[in-house]
Amino acid sequence: MLSLLKCMDCGREYPINAVLYTCESCGGLLDVHHDLDALRGRVSRELFDGRLGTLDAPYSSGVWRYKELIYPDLDDAAIVSRNEGNTNLYPAPALAAWAGVRTLYLKHEGENPTGSFKDRGMTTGVTQARALGMTRVACASTGNTSASMAAYAAHAGMEGIVFFQDRQIALGKLSQAIAYGATCVQISADFDRNLALVREIAGALGIYVLNSVNPFRLEGQKAIIFETLQQLRWQAPDWIVCPGGNLGNSSAFGKALYELHQLGLIDRLPRLAIVQAEGANPLYRAYQGGFARFEPVHAETIATAIKIGNPVNYPKAVRALRWTDGVVTQVSDQAIMDAKALIDGQGIGCEPASACSLAGTRQLVEAGIIRPDATVVGILTGHILKDPDATIGYHRDALTGLRAAFPNRLHQAEPSVEAITAILQGSAARRPS
Ligand SMILES: *Cc1c(COP(=O)(O)O)cnc(C)c1O
Ligand SMILES: [Zn+2]
Repeated sequence: MLSLLKCMDCGREYPINAVLYTCESCGGLLDVHHDLDALRGRVSRELFDGRLGTLDAPYSSGVWRYKELIYPDLDDAAIVSRNEGNTNLYPAPALAAWAGVRTLYLKHEGENPTGSFKDRGMTTGVTQARALGMTRVACASTGNTSASMAAYAAHAGMEGIVFFQDRQIALGKLSQAIAYGATCVQISADFDRNLALVREIAGALGIYVLNSVNPFRLEGQKAIIFETLQQLRWQAPDWIVCPGGNLGNSSAFGKALYELHQLGLIDRLPRLAIVQAEGANPLYRAYQGGFARFEPVHAETIATAIKIGNPVNYPKAVRALRWTDGVVTQVSDQAIMDAKALIDGQGIGCEPASACSLAGTRQLVEAGIIRPDATVVGILTGHILKDPDATIGYHRDALTGLRAAFPNRLHQAEPSVEAITAILQGSAARRPS
């Protein structure tokens, strides 16, 4: 066997098919641990490049293309996939100039089948559920996890069960989970409490938990990094910048970069920058104190996807930061929404949490941490259509406590040629030439 489950704290090992999310000895988080020495001779840039453009499953998927680095022993027939991944890496020169760096790419994970990067972790998580013979899967969710799990569970013929907060759920996400047929339960508690509930109830009822405490989720999310590096012809950028909520993605990025480097697929390690919302910043606080201690916070932010006060993957995120000489920063809701307006205005678009990548890049340049001549990859985690209320509220300048710096006002006109012509003459005059 090339892979097993391994506790990141005490090193205890478990077989790959153990139904466990944390260590039975010490409570530590588990990794899907691969035998990198055995894999070294089996993977190469050429192997993965040779699979580009194939129409054949599973390698047509932007996750399973890297199967040797994700779940090498798995029988292909067990895979539950929707050809996730294969997302665009957009050069964004205008946004690079605004942020103050020479080169900025945006990796658009909102282009996944259900509109967020969660699909990359869900193809591996639901595949493992199937390999274990599970028929029911569950998650607590700020939204995108539930949308993705609901879709993949339906695809696999399983029951998906979602524990939602009863307020501040982006409408696009709730509607997806309901439409895809999941059993949806609204609970008057925040995300952190719902995650505790889901873990307790799932354990008692034999339901498989697909929150990012599940290490198979993170294995799939590593493919965001694998694919980005492949799109960059395996030339490492200086920085990879991503939002941090439950810290599953940043943890996965750290593991992906570590493994690529260990296997010689990249020559140097990019630095990881994790960006939190000011109102949901427990990692940032711990970072400022040199990780001497960690304290959960009560989370409030317009970026609901990262409204998490007690991130379950905290220890793995700290490890990712150590592996990559990474940094953590925080940005205000104002900065998030203004950055989102600029990304949207390029015709690219994203949901609020994703805009942390751009807002954080600019801030880290201003702070002198990212150098102006750097090459930066910002991860856009979710699709613009996920949270239309936030977008419209911004352009109407109707968001409480915020002032839109880049609004695109909706014009109202009488049905007359004169009235409409006047508007269009005005808008032409306002366009930069
Ligand atoms: C889940 C999610 C995040 C946060 O990712 P973590 O792995 O929880 O840190 C950020 N943005 C979007 C759009 C998400 O769906
Ligand atoms: Zn342990």
